[in-house]
Amino acid sequence: MAFFESYQCSLCGHVWEPEAIAYVCPHDDGNLDVRLDYSAIQAGNSPASISAEIETSIWRYLPLLPVDDPGRESTQLRAVGWTPLIRSSRLAQELGLEALWLKDDGRNPTASFKDRASAIVVVRAEEIGAGTVVTASTGNAGAALAGMAAAAELPAVILAPSNAPQAKVAQLLIYGARVILVDGNYDQAFDLSLQAAEEFGWYCRNTGYNAFTVEGKKTAAFEICEQLSEPGAERWESPEAVFVSVGDGNIITGLHKGFKDLHELGWIDHIPRIYGIQSTGSAAVTNAFLAGADEIEPVRSNTLADSISVDLPRDGLRALRAVRETNGAMIAVEDQKILQAIATLGREAIFAEPAGATAFAGLEVAVESGLVESGERIVAVITGSGLKDVPAAMKAAGEAVVIQPNLEALREVVT
Ligand SMILES: [Zn+2]
Repeated sequence: MAFFESYQCSLCGHVWEPEAIAYVCPHDDGNLDVRLDYSAIQAGNSPASISAEIETSIWRYLPLLPVDDPGRESTQLRAVGWTPLIRSSRLAQELGLEALWLKDDGRNPTASFKDRASAIVVVRAEEIGAGTVVTASTGNAGAALAGMAAAAELPAVILAPSNAPQAKVAQLLIYGARVILVDGNYDQAFDLSLQAAEEFGWYCRNTGYNAFTVEGKKTAAFEICEQLSEPGAERWESPEAVFVSVGDGNIITGLHKGFKDLHELGWIDHIPRIYGIQSTGSAAVTNAFLAGADEIEPVRSNTLADSISVDLPRDGLRALRAVRETNGAMIAVEDQKILQAIATLGREAIFAEPAGATAFAGLEVAVESGLVESGERIVAVITGSGLKDVPAAMKAAGEAVVIQPNLEALREVVT
């Protein structure tokens, strides 16, 4: 928090004092970017000083975060992030690549990337004295907020569409949140949660609305660069290309912010090309990218990848900016390709939910289209665990055979 300098509106560019704003730009409702005092950070910190940290969570990057150390040692709040960056030589070889890593963010406390955002939002809520936190969610953001709020002993209210997968709803309930299923889609739950926050004075975590979600999500970019580097290096390594799934567009925005922070600090020498991957059944940002448009037209989403099933992406403009400014691209893949990607990742012992496997499906398309070169270092971010959506996994995996309990029956099926 010491280096949290100001907000800057992503639409009009106006700079706001941190105390002046709760959520979005008062001029135009634009999403706000958090600006840090980069020269002050540089003065007392370096890649080497951070790598010397013993903290194995997002809190190792405390000087680059807009909140203070939350304390709460040995709680799940301190178990977020620092997920494995797994080198996949086998899948790289099959794709004709030399260097491919999979960032397994299903390993977070509530089994998705969203813990990064929710941890920071919960700490911010405590700092501003919020009594209750609320979010609309397709499932993962809600589970993450419910889990982090439980760790911080803060009441949470979650509004989710009534068709959210059962495992995600179970998580919300187990973490003790007040769970309200909305007989409508995510977009309707989103609008309702904004009204509720205003009406009841709750602190709203909503993606593409609360600036602090990006500040949590950017830690994945920090980790990717640090994990690709030698311990104690004076500068960190940056990959050439990063692939990530896109729903609201807030994770890709977070990754972009993380790489920009490191670049502004001079801690990496380039920002990677960022590729955002959507399902063809929920491709609002991709449509805008392909049309060269600066506005995002809502779609009627229909995809089995529930975590990225969004009609109107709430952070779509910054998602477009992330891919355009880095010379990346938006790519849409069929749900069938997403299911195949779940099965492919399983061979590396990574169990991904559909939205989690979407980045890898997009990488396959990018390779076929010549968007990446074989010698480049490539990272695909796997954003959520397959345990979140077992029915989808069964579609990818097929059914197991059932036999009578004798050797003869076993021989018949194994030989
Ligand atoms: Zn503005």
